[in-house]
Amino acid sequence: MNKADSERLGSALDQLGLAPTSSKEAADVVILNTCVVRQNAENKAVGTLTSLKPTKLQSPDKVFALMGCMVGPDTTKLEKQFPYVDVFMRPQQFDPLIKLLADRLGIDPEGCVGPLHAKPDVSTYIPIIHGCDKFCSFCIIPYRRGREISRPIPEIVDETERLVDRGVKEITLLGQNVDSYGHDLPGHINLANLLESVNEVQGIQRIRFLTSHPNDMDDSIIEAVAHLDKVCENINLPFQAGDDEVLRNMRRGYTNKEYRKLIEKIRDKVPNVTLNTDLIVGFCGETDDQFNNTLKMVEDIRFDKVHSAAYSTRTGTIADRKMVDDIAEETKKDRLKIINSTQESILTELNAKLIGTTQEVLIEGAKDSKPFGRNRNDKIVFVATNEHQENLQSGELVNVTIEETSPWYLKGTAVRLT
Ligand code: SF4
Repeated sequence: MNKADSERLGSALDQLGLAPTSSKEAADVVILNTCVVRQNAENKAVGTLTSLKPTKLQSPDKVFALMGCMVGPDTTKLEKQFPYVDVFMRPQQFDPLIKLLADRLGIDPEGCVGPLHAKPDVSTYIPIIHGCDKFCSFCIIPYRRGREISRPIPEIVDETERLVDRGVKEITLLGQNVDSYGHDLPGHINLANLLESVNEVQGIQRIRFLTSHPNDMDDSIIEAVAHLDKVCENINLPFQAGDDEVLRNMRRGYTNKEYRKLIEKIRDKVPNVTLNTDLIVGFCGETDDQFNNTLKMVEDIRFDKVHSAAYSTRTGTIADRKMVDDIAEETKKDRLKIINSTQESILTELNAKLIGTTQEVLIEGAKDSKPFGRNRNDKIVFVATNEHQENLQSGELVNVTIEETSPWYLKGTAVRLT
């Protein structure tokens, strides 16, 4: 979501006539888009902000802006802590910066700043629902991004069409809880209805969506993944913890058994699906046995990607107010290591099975001059040198024969589809 927000603000600045620079020392405007979902992210944001102070003192005309989840409704504390920051913006509320820059440039931003990126990547994001109503006890998001607000289907279809005109081939529909899309709109519509509508857009080749919630992933969404040709067979379904008591403390609203049943149903309806997940270790009061239930879930389900994190208290959340962060940091680190090494072994095995298969890859760019993209299952694929490779372009769909794998990516040789 932060990446999507940054792209949108970057596009607005582009339309005001500003150009990007890779050096923050050389920039006239420096914007820090922050995430505070975990302590590490917050520390990084504070460290970067502090390191910027001398630059601002030397060049007071530079504009410094802080945006994203670090900025809550009351900015008094932040203003005191970082008096050299000119603008504080809550997530997606870009107007104060646009106005300040337009004033400095002596232009009227009305009518010249649209929401769309002029030069988007071939694979880009479309936020479809903002905020979250769930209030999981560990999570700061509902306090920073507010309650759920869905965008109407016609608006999203129109945006998709205009992105296709700008060269986009793949979109990821975004929401903090994407599966609850539409519940606040008239006409009983849901994510499956939106997926059907976007699937009809000429020129779009792939559709993804992030992030799902086990309680809101209903049969119609699973059917849409199974039957709509452009919707990719990959689902990000966080389970967060494998123990029922921890899940209750987290206010997740499902049990270990219910989560496993849902996974069975998804695999039954979409046999070639890959599954990603998020989990937290070391939540308040988590015993060794309770942690082992999380580990067992990872071992049994064999996910294709696990985003794991050690719990850190977020000020103002339910867990912060009502529970004690009583697991030692060393224990959290050890548990994280166990999860990550288990997952690495699983991925080594899962990916090795793909050797010799042919994967459809959408080329997204090049790293160290090696073209890369992703297959429909969201695995990164590097395309090895052959006579076709020199001409591989971003946006091209190619069939790739997989010859080498690692836990984190696949490698193969391209055969063009078109
Ligand atoms: S559903 Fe996700 S975003 Fe919403 S409160 Fe829970 S963890 Fe946070």
